[in-house]
Amino acid sequence: MPLPRPLSHSSISMYGECPQRYKFKYVDNLPEKPKYFFSFGRSMHETLEFFYGVKTLPPPSLEEMLSFYKEHWISEGYRDQDQEAEYFQNGKAILASYYRRHIATFSIPCFVEYDFKMDVDGVPVTGKVDRIDRLPDGKLCVLDYKTGKALAAGRVLEDSQLTMYQLACETLLGSEVGRLVFYHLPTHREYAAGRRPQALVDDLRSRIQKTAESIELGRFDPKPAERICHWCDYRAICPVFTGKMPSEADELASLIDKYGELESRLTQENQDAAKLKAAILDILRRKGYVRAFGARYEVQRTGAEKFDFPTANKKKVLHALKDAGLYEKVLAPSAPLIGKLLSDPSTDPELGAALKELGCRVELSELKITPL
Ligand code: SF4
Repeated sequence: MPLPRPLSHSSISMYGECPQRYKFKYVDNLPEKPKYFFSFGRSMHETLEFFYGVKTLPPPSLEEMLSFYKEHWISEGYRDQDQEAEYFQNGKAILASYYRRHIATFSIPCFVEYDFKMDVDGVPVTGKVDRIDRLPDGKLCVLDYKTGKALAAGRVLEDSQLTMYQLACETLLGSEVGRLVFYHLPTHREYAAGRRPQALVDDLRSRIQKTAESIELGRFDPKPAERICHWCDYRAICPVFTGKMPSEADELASLIDKYGELESRLTQENQDAAKLKAAILDILRRKGYVRAFGARYEVQRTGAEKFDFPTANKKKVLHALKDAGLYEKVLAPSAPLIGKLLSDPSTDPELGAALKELGCRVELSELKITPL
């Protein structure tokens, strides 16, 4: 099956935590219930987007910022009014304190809520970066706001969300990233790291590839874990909790279908590869090249000639062999068997000449392809 939608950091994480949950949400399109912590996070992010989103100085005043917060407050998902009021006041206090800390050094960022779409080795990937600033040395500073619990020490050094943002910014904006930051709003603590090493970027690329491959193969086994299932909206329909885990017969049927789909894809791809090979060989032959280059691969043509008999001449070959009394000696009028006979010094030269007349030289070309 094709990917139901481009991958994002959160959908990759969800697939990693529980493929069945990913399926419910992105393949079956069953919406999750609103959650107060997502609503709170969005209210805070949108207010900071308003604060930093000015095109020219001056920035909004504190009153303007707080009034935006109030007008755009997202109420969904709170347990009751008391919980909502508590979060609203808490958010207001955090924003006021954020304003006081940062207004003196305010500058207009390069991007606020930067939406990106990129292709990672053939897999479409999307996301949104909260803020991108320009550092004094010209490199980019990528910043993500956090509104939840305090962050574990060291998380900023390897969290794949920031790695993905680095990859997106460098791929799409053409500038090197120099700093990656998680800004924890409730404590105003900045967790900063330098540019990710290539090994972490490569790990992420391979995770993106593997996730896309597994989704395309329809692998959606549930992965129950107390910490994840507790917050999962799909418990009521999840096979783990409804006791409807697929039987062995269902599993076999699903394996057969997946195998069949894979085989059909392979057959189609082999046919496509054969056509490309023939087209390349044709050009190489016409140009007289034995080697040529693409951007990522090189090809080498190895040629050989073999002696063969056209089908129309096979009867004549048999007659010639019969007349020479060699019909029993040669099992079939195939080129290799007759070639052996021709190389035998005791074979009558006249017969040899007659057989050579009936055959022809056939050119065999092989193509070897290797990555550059
Ligand atoms: S309840 Fe648990 S196992 Fe089932 S879909 Fe949700 S996270 Fe996965």
